[in-house]
Amino acid sequence: MKLLICPMCYSKNVELDSGGVSGKYFCKDCGYVGSFILEMSEGDYEEMLKSKGEDFKFRSERDKDRNPTKKH
Ligand SMILES: [Zn+2]
Repeated sequence: MKLLICPMCYSKNVELDSGGVSGKYFCKDCGYVGSFILEMSEGDYEEMLKSKGEDFKFRSERDKDRNPTKKH
């Protein structure tokens, strides 16, 4: 199964916008909306995170228990 990855923040928290009618994708983490999305296998995603470094590994870990109250 392929994962949909946000090209902006590399989150896996991406789904089809408007139920897929628009053909665009929506990132629930950064709010990105667009037709361009990264699609890769779980293994490739892990590899990408490794090549991106600790910051992105941290992001993906943080995704697992996200705090609903955003600090901003
Ligand atoms: Zn994003």
